[in-house]
Amino acid sequence: MSGARRSIATTDQTLALLGSGGANRGRPVDVVGGGIAGLATALAFGRIGAEVTVHEQAPELTEVGAGLQVTPNGARVLDGLGLAEVASRRGIRADAVEPRDALTGRPVTRFDLRKLSGPPYRFFHRYDLIDMLAEGCRAAGVTIRTGQRIEPLGDRPVDRADGALLIGADGLHSVLRPLLNEPAEPFFTGQVAWRATVAVESPPVARIWMAPGRHVVTYPLHGGRLNIVAVREQADWAAEGWHHLDDPANLQAVFADTAPELRAILGAVTSVNLWGLFRHPVAQRWHNDDTAIMGDAAHPTLPFLAQGANLALEDAYVLARCCDTFSDLPTALARYQALRRNRVARAIGAANANAVNYHLAGMQRRVAHLGLKGLGILAPRAFLGRMDWLYGHDVTARV
Ligand SMILES: Cc1cc2nc3c(=O)[nH]c(=O)nc-3n(C[C@H](O)[C@H](O)[C@H](O)COP(=O)(O)OP(=O)(O)OC[C@H]3O[C@@H](n4cnc5c(N)ncnc54)[C@H](O)[C@@H]3O)c2cc1C
Repeated sequence: MSGARRSIATTDQTLALLGSGGANRGRPVDVVGGGIAGLATALAFGRIGAEVTVHEQAPELTEVGAGLQVTPNGARVLDGLGLAEVASRRGIRADAVEPRDALTGRPVTRFDLRKLSGPPYRFFHRYDLIDMLAEGCRAAGVTIRTGQRIEPLGDRPVDRADGALLIGADGLHSVLRPLLNEPAEPFFTGQVAWRATVAVESPPVARIWMAPGRHVVTYPLHGGRLNIVAVREQADWAAEGWHHLDDPANLQAVFADTAPELRAILGAVTSVNLWGLFRHPVAQRWHNDDTAIMGDAAHPTLPFLAQGANLALEDAYVLARCCDTFSDLPTALARYQALRRNRVARAIGAANANAVNYHLAGMQRRVAHLGLKGLGILAPRAFLGRMDWLYGHDVTARV
């Protein structure tokens, strides 16, 4: 891509938020992908005075109706990018996480999220998160080009200005990841997931309805909707992607033996997407001298820890801050990978483990539920303490 670049206005305050020396102020930055990762990155670079252009293949920035949990580690990034006030308006503050026995409907325990330190844990409509990041980008002088699919041109996917930094935030089927890495085949996890929203009012609690071989996560969204992600074990699956429509009756049949409250929720589903869950290795190389990948392009994760978007927000902040601190771009990009890869791999490992924990059967299930119940009664802080490495991490505090 080429053409005139807009001049960027930044304030000392926003520069201070990112850290910084202004080492890459004025550098052209091309971001491929206008999802949560791409827009957060564009905003972070806009705030340090880079000349940022986002290239998004879709004709407009839209998101299908579904929710997202932003945990305190991701919320710190929103705050650091100047979005604290809008996040508090557009998100719903979460009170608790409540694992339930899906067969009886009874809570196994309840963990009070209000006791977490740092900014609140919130539930967002994906559209709201995209929209507030895009608004922030525009205010920071970022150019967003929609209807722009970037195709690899040999080993230079984008015709870019001299010295430009290229960032691949182009998701699961990234065109930039294979330019930096050997092909790595994802493998099917033996689980499929449905995603839907229904018009059901609910308190601000994330409920995990656990049954042998299956589970459902529900939490409320603005506008009186309840977000649903339902997972079951299944032997085979073909395509990976989020947008395969399914008949709601299939979802309802899989949970037909569960408690009336859960069946009523699933009974309200009139439209549902189904997809196969695949595991992908974390990319070995996240950068070369002038190109970096981030978000799902570098490290897609299973949804069992609600961290894909939160990790993408963290990546965005760290990448911009490294580039703001080190004037030598290869040094900045190497520092970015060094700061991110182990943390991301740990979070993804924890998400993989949860898939098993939610689906236990028989004696193992009874023991696990008793253990959870005991933890909730005797040491509720111990549970939250076990999540401190994840939720307590503050990328805005370090490079
Ligand atoms: C059911 C489900 C529930 C989830 N819940 C949570 C949660 O509660 N909390 C959480 O943190 N995460 C959650 N996640 C994960 C999270 O949604 C993703 O990890 C995150 O959105 C990834 O963002 P991304 O921008 O990297 O990728 P994407 O959202 O896939 O965005 C990539 C963008 O790039 C564009 N693009 C792709 N190729 C090109 C190209 N060649 N040229 C131009 N544009 C291109 C695409 O159109 C798209 O807009 C969930 C995921 C699922 C499936």
